[in-house]
Amino acid sequence: MNDQTRSTKRLRAAVVGGGIGGLAAACAVGRRGIDVLVFEQAETLGEIGAGLTIFPNALRQLERMGLGEALAAVGAKIGDGSEYYRADGTVVGPMTMSDSSGWNGIYGMHRADLLNALAASLRPGTIRAGHRCIGFEQDDAAARLKFANGETAEADLVIAADGIHSALQRYVVAPTPPEYSGVRAYRGLIAREKLPDWRHEAQQVWMGDGKHFMTYPVRSGRLLNYVGFVPSKNATAESWSAVGDRDELASSFDGWDPRVVRLLEAVESCFWWGLYDRMPLQSWTNGRLALLGDAAHAMLPHLGQGANQAIEDGVALAVLLEGQDSADVPDIVQQYEKLRRARTDVIQAEARKNGQRYDSKYANLDQRDREIANFGVFRRSLFDYDVEKVAIAHLRENQPSLDRPREIRG
Ligand SMILES: Cc1cc2nc3c(=O)[nH]c(=O)nc-3n(C[C@H](O)[C@H](O)[C@H](O)COP(=O)(O)OP(=O)(O)OC[C@H]3O[C@@H](n4cnc5c(N)ncnc54)[C@H](O)[C@@H]3O)c2cc1C
Repeated sequence: MNDQTRSTKRLRAAVVGGGIGGLAAACAVGRRGIDVLVFEQAETLGEIGAGLTIFPNALRQLERMGLGEALAAVGAKIGDGSEYYRADGTVVGPMTMSDSSGWNGIYGMHRADLLNALAASLRPGTIRAGHRCIGFEQDDAAARLKFANGETAEADLVIAADGIHSALQRYVVAPTPPEYSGVRAYRGLIAREKLPDWRHEAQQVWMGDGKHFMTYPVRSGRLLNYVGFVPSKNATAESWSAVGDRDELASSFDGWDPRVVRLLEAVESCFWWGLYDRMPLQSWTNGRLALLGDAAHAMLPHLGQGANQAIEDGVALAVLLEGQDSADVPDIVQQYEKLRRARTDVIQAEARKNGQRYDSKYANLDQRDREIANFGVFRRSLFDYDVEKVAIAHLRENQPSLDRPREIRG
């Protein structure tokens, strides 16, 4: 459709899933003039989950969406003093904590704090809780959703941000279960005052034989987030709320660096988590339906990029959709997929590789340590990526007649 024949009707997007990917996508498309509703199966966006790291590649997008102050108020800056260690606590090397410009845009965040900040920036009424999506259909004119509560919704575009077990994924590709990595993650939070000597502004990773342990601060530094990654044949369902066995966690790291042992003595309770991912899907889109976040590219957490990539997805989609017509949606979502997979296919694979490094799965650990020493180059390239600029450049190249897209700030 050319600019003269474009209708003036605003595009309507329906997002399924009110996790980080869904809410960030709603913020991004809303800022670009698209009417958006988010349908979340849970009755409330609760205080569940633990920590996440938000890196410069996503933080610069969130700041442009006007969330800078809100995130600064609840995030915990992580920077100098971030290090990799062997299991005994000897230092392997420093961790790169800035992009190439030197910007240390990194926060440890409680998942609930990030969700709340995103939700607060949406227009009241945008989020429809208690809506579990159970059906999708589409025709040339629109897409329609069916919910377990009997309601329905119609939109020009459906964004499926419904996580690794996406109910909508089967409308795009043949259903397959996610792959279990053989690793269970024990996660939890400890009050800062329980560990007064801890290096709180740092991310720290201890790499042992088949296991690793990680800490970083969240919630303005008042809480320390820890994760113990332990091999387990029994696949554990992923969940933000499955209660783990703290004794089993502590015994998994017996004899490690005394700092780790001391921290685990302070743990009262924890959650656990089976770690799953998927190989890149054959496709992310079908007509008016686009998968986003874990629904599109579930990855292991060993680069800390799952939520960061979900945020990037939403920004890319928003730039491509701005000012477009409903009839163009099927073509736009294909462009979105092409643009995003060039990045996420690589990150999915690199996340697996990094897990091997952290779990010391190397015949020669000197080789692992050399890779860790050089890893800063890859981290900086991850952090430097500006998805908004990339999507705008894509549009300028492919649709030079458009007066859009614009850069929007604040
Ligand atoms: C141990 C661990 C550590 C991690 N650390 C990091 C990190 O440091 N940094 C990082 O960026 N990422 C990290 N991740 C990954 C990150 O948590 C995920 O990639 C991210 O949360 C995915 O967001 P999402 O919105 O795609 O999916 P989800 O967060 O899974 O959200 C999906 C939402 O959809 C809803 N939903 C599901 N089905 C339906 C339905 N049928 N109808 C309506 N709603 C539905 C769910 O209730 C949920 O609210 C980590 C993950 C793990 C396991």
